[in-house]
Amino acid sequence: MADRKVRIATTSLAGCFGCHMSILDIDEALFDLLERVEFDRSPLTDIKHCGPCDLGIIEGGVCNAENVHVLKEFRRNCKVLVALGACAISGGIPAMRNNIPLRACFQEVYEYEPGTLGHHLPNDPELPLPFDKVHPINEVVHVDYFLPGCPPPAEAILRFVGDLLAGRTPAIDPHLLHYD
Ligand code: SF4
Repeated sequence: MADRKVRIATTSLAGCFGCHMSILDIDEALFDLLERVEFDRSPLTDIKHCGPCDLGIIEGGVCNAENVHVLKEFRRNCKVLVALGACAISGGIPAMRNNIPLRACFQEVYEYEPGTLGHHLPNDPELPLPFDKVHPINEVVHVDYFLPGCPPPAEAILRFVGDLLAGRTPAIDPHLLHYD
């Protein structure tokens, strides 16, 4: 990638922020990285929309309409898009709800749980519409790279980004590739 700082955007869709914690787990290597990259929209910045970027990193699958909106914005603006972690790649643990009718899930949480008796399902129009199923992000947009793990190890993330910065196709050591 070019001499100028490489611009990176990150987001969490139906994720737990654990993949972002793994990014931060590269610890002091962050200081070296920040010599070469700058962050656009990310939970680490206060930027509200993804602008033109070299790299977009997506944590989490797609579980509602807002996720689709954000994901498409990233795809439009990022030259390279990465699915980071099991949730973005396959839906992950949140996709376990795919075998249960959505209404039954919501009734369990909002109507049947002790303390929620008589309550109704949230229906404010500001809330994003949930989908029946949780989807991997590649069912919505084209994805350039998949980096597995729940979360992917910090070292794998560092090497992956390092390869991209060096203009190489990322090649992660097998011992850093896992799915748990
Ligand atoms: S892959 Fe694991 S760590 Fe990453 S967002 Fe999903 S549940 Fe969290």
